[in-house]
Amino acid sequence: MEQTHNIYLQSFGAAETVTGSKHILDTPELKILIDCGLFQGIKSLREKNWESPEFDPAAIDAMILTHAHLDHCGYIPLLIKNGYKGQIFMSAPTKELTEIILRDSAKIQEEDAQRANDMGYSKHAPAKPLYTTQDVELALPHFSVLETAVTHQLSRNISCEFYPAGHIPGACSVQLLCYGKSIVFSGDIGRYHSELLPAPKHPAAADYVIMESTYGDRLHDTTPIDDELAAVINETLYHKGNVLLPCFAVGRAQDVIHILYQLKKHKQIPSSVPVFLDSPMAAAASKVLTHYPEWITIPAKDCLQMFSGVTINQDHQNTQKIIAQKESKIILAASGMMTGGRVLEYLKHYLSDSRNTILIMGFQAEGTRGRTLLNGAHELKMHGRYFPVKARIKEIGGLSAHADQAELLQWLKEFTINKPKVFLVHGEPCALDTFRVKIKDELNLQATIVKQGQRILLFSSSS
Ligand SMILES: [Zn+2]
Repeated sequence: MEQTHNIYLQSFGAAETVTGSKHILDTPELKILIDCGLFQGIKSLREKNWESPEFDPAAIDAMILTHAHLDHCGYIPLLIKNGYKGQIFMSAPTKELTEIILRDSAKIQEEDAQRANDMGYSKHAPAKPLYTTQDVELALPHFSVLETAVTHQLSRNISCEFYPAGHIPGACSVQLLCYGKSIVFSGDIGRYHSELLPAPKHPAAADYVIMESTYGDRLHDTTPIDDELAAVINETLYHKGNVLLPCFAVGRAQDVIHILYQLKKHKQIPSSVPVFLDSPMAAAASKVLTHYPEWITIPAKDCLQMFSGVTINQDHQNTQKIIAQKESKIILAASGMMTGGRVLEYLKHYLSDSRNTILIMGFQAEGTRGRTLLNGAHELKMHGRYFPVKARIKEIGGLSAHADQAELLQWLKEFTINKPKVFLVHGEPCALDTFRVKIKDELNLQATIVKQGQRILLFSSSS
């Protein structure tokens, strides 16, 4: 007798927002979770991390992780804590980076809870971390590496394959061959001309594409970043100020270090200006780069050399010593959206001095301190206190790790064998809708904006 199989898509994060990526492909053989990220940004979103999951982790059979950013991997410890027993498939660099990122995430949460308790500014008594270092250690044994360009059978009718997506080292799009159809989850899509990473790749054929749209309504600045960055640095040095670069520890920090290395080499900025990387995680992530030369476009020896001119600070205690140094300097510290981490210590000292520059080089989600600064706020709240904004807030956009609208369209256009049905995720409402219309007008493809929790029937197959 003929049987009908229904294949559903359901998103429990990164649906009409850019964080908390969690997409479930529900098939008769397997329930597969693609990414398991933390919500970040506005409070109502962050609070979702504390609620019990909207799906049953114990009912998931397999998980695939596209890349190591916290908004894609940061909920994994809670997935395991809430009953997930299966493997978590990812590329080799993603495995190394995710281990670093999750350990750091737990540490920051433990430290924040501790600080809130010590200083008594938490509304919750006592303040607790979302998850602990121990929760992370229990999650790591579930990690399993999959090579790219190899098809992996997950069950009788389902297999998967990774395609490098640029974005950050190890980041992949994933194709699921499912009951005869090709379903592609883009993950985060990188740039076609990046400093360190190759252009994104994907299979030639897809029936369904679930795609990110972070910059679906924007084009990146095409002014050469080197010149712009040199100008900002030189101007700040002239005023005897410091340049603070909040950056993602993975990806952005390494991009910026590479550019600073080039600027010093070509004498566009003084070679004597000290550069500090105050993020043990960024330092560890930088080391990972050197383990995987096949994932980056610059030679391994250049990679080593570019870090030689950077002072890496591992120890939290030394942050105050760096701040106390009078001479002008360039500091890279995480987190990139200023939601936490050591960058806040620098902000507390540098934000109220007009000689300094806070240089924002990455996407700043709604509700983050980074977005607040870009919106021209006159003060910023950190650890329960307000700090006046006197420093120059400057944005350089060209270094984004995300494809812009034109690159997203190019990526989609490269599905040449058939016309896929498109489902848009990982974007704020305006970006999603602008991109949906653009896809229709330019490529004549139907695109659907995925809503949180909405169960979408992709197709039915008979056997
Ligand atoms: Zn990402």
